[in-house]
Amino acid sequence: MIGESTIAQYQDKRDFRKTPEPLGDRAGSSDELQFVIQKHDATTLHYDFRLQIDGVLVSWSIPKGPSTDPRERRLAIHTEDHPIEYAEFEGVIPEGEYGAGAVLVWDRGVFRNLRTDQGDESEDGSSLKASLEEGKVEVWLEGEKLMGGYALIRSPKLGKNHWLLVKMNDEGADGRRNPTSTEPASVLSGRTIEEIAETGA
Ligand code: MN
Repeated sequence: MIGESTIAQYQDKRDFRKTPEPLGDRAGSSDELQFVIQKHDATTLHYDFRLQIDGVLVSWSIPKGPSTDPRERRLAIHTEDHPIEYAEFEGVIPEGEYGAGAVLVWDRGVFRNLRTDQGDESEDGSSLKASLEEGKVEVWLEGEKLMGGYALIRSPKLGKNHWLLVKMNDEGADGRRNPTSTEPASVLSGRTIEEIAETGA
């Protein structure tokens, strides 16, 4: 199964008898490429940005979350691949488990590879993976909160697995908008992270 081996690290970190997170045993199949941004109130609050690449959700942990301001560069730590069905996960990871705390689906939608559009990669579907290996991923997001181009640039000088997330200058750019603070609720349930933590599910 494509991408199965890259999910091993995800599965090794978790006890699926205790956490409500998905096991990751369903094959990812979808014509359109999915993305999700999950607000995660773990040891420190952060946003997990995940892009469907090669049948898995390639993931970055962003301490300050995404910005709509092209002048902002947001640190994004590349973390372990997650299964496709994780894009629907919202709830509470129990105390003592990896990543314990509330998870909220902050934004979700589909995306396309801007570098394929520019024709500087092959058309065999592997170009996102090639971009990832190269350390330069450029995508067009069509979410409920975020819209337009975003670039992820690997920045090894900052540290191991360190990347930067930058909004591209297009119609989705807006230096005055601050959606992480003005639009905090889940796009799935309308709940806030506090409400999810209170109900415990
Ligand atoms: Mn996380």
